[in-house]
Amino acid sequence: MASTSHSRSSIFKTLTPAPLAFERGEGVRLYGEDGKIYLDYSAGVAVNALGHAHPHLVAALSEQASKLWHVSNLFQIPGQERLAKRLCEVSFADRIFFTNSGAEAMECCFKTARRYHFAAGNPQKIDILTFEGAFHGRTLATIAAGGQEKYLEGFGPKTEGFIQLPFGDEEAVNKAIGDTTAAILIEPVQGEGGIRQPDGAFLRFLRQICDDNDLLLIFDEIQTGIGRTGKLFAYEWSGAAPDLMAIAKGIGGGFPLGACLATESAADAMAPGVHGTTFGGNPLAMAVGNAVLDVVLEEGFLEGVQEVALYLRQQLAELADTFPELIEEIRGEGMLLGLKLKVPNLDVISAFRDEGLLTVAAGDNVLRLLPPLVITIDDVREAQQKMQRALAQFTEIQSAGK
Ligand SMILES: *Cc1c(COP(=O)(O)O)cnc(C)c1O
Repeated sequence: MASTSHSRSSIFKTLTPAPLAFERGEGVRLYGEDGKIYLDYSAGVAVNALGHAHPHLVAALSEQASKLWHVSNLFQIPGQERLAKRLCEVSFADRIFFTNSGAEAMECCFKTARRYHFAAGNPQKIDILTFEGAFHGRTLATIAAGGQEKYLEGFGPKTEGFIQLPFGDEEAVNKAIGDTTAAILIEPVQGEGGIRQPDGAFLRFLRQICDDNDLLLIFDEIQTGIGRTGKLFAYEWSGAAPDLMAIAKGIGGGFPLGACLATESAADAMAPGVHGTTFGGNPLAMAVGNAVLDVVLEEGFLEGVQEVALYLRQQLAELADTFPELIEEIRGEGMLLGLKLKVPNLDVISAFRDEGLLTVAAGDNVLRLLPPLVITIDDVREAQQKMQRALAQFTEIQSAGK
């Protein structure tokens, strides 16, 4: 049934949605058109940080919607100044450029890094070192940065200036740095790549080598940022701060919003007219971004995320003990968690969905759990029961099939 409706679809075939649509959402719950209620541990792929229809976000968006939607960046946008100042206060950054998506925030990081070296009289420094398994978006430059063949194939020559290195390999980084190197780019935890986490020492090593060679360190925190790992930004766990950072997903809480965060020195060469955007930073987006920060920066919010995340992780560890033939290991940090599976991840995702629990696939045969940051211990228990039931049935079907 899903495939017939899909073949009649007027939408690009690139999107292959599950045969499921929703009428509304509330907190961690989604109400399906099939009449079922789902626990949403996909959260729009780490976007709905505060769940669905959070009252504070609804109020902020509605209020702004009745006042002013869009004026373009030809005029001052007070909400932009405010959100930028707040992001700077809670991060390494001194300057912010707002975008509509993660990939655009990445592109801004790339342009800013190259322009930095250009302005310093080194226009040959264009290369950005990245790591295997990375995901940085789907524009021509960001697929080159991610370096994954499945995303590059058929789209012409790979955009120049991106060099992939083995994950976590210090020696390879040392060898790769040369006269054309501009920057090093890494996700503090790989999301799409399968919740793979370089250790903090590796991020500190990258910080040091960037300092030693006047390279810019770029973190892609599009998925890990805004509380996802239990800190506002994942880099805080490592003690290594970047020069440039892309965020998106969580900061908009469901409204398309991204940002490039930069130190004063990294952003200094981005002079008037050098970069721009029509929609980026518009009043609607700024109202929502500020409202997301209101909640996430509330005293005790992130501690609460860490507490519930720890409980979730313990529950997952129990599941892994109960089903060692299905689960190889638990990965991740905070509420960016992965089950590395011994059976196809898509099969388990659909078994979970049948039980009313929504999760997301990732590379390396991992199933991602990305609940809204506002879930409670009770929500975790409910999810645990659903997973337990789904996995038990899965085991039965498997052994019956043998
Ligand atoms: C989602 C994501 C992107 C791309 O963001 P878009 O908004 O889809 O362009 C880039 N990097 C990481 C780590 C992501 O998770």
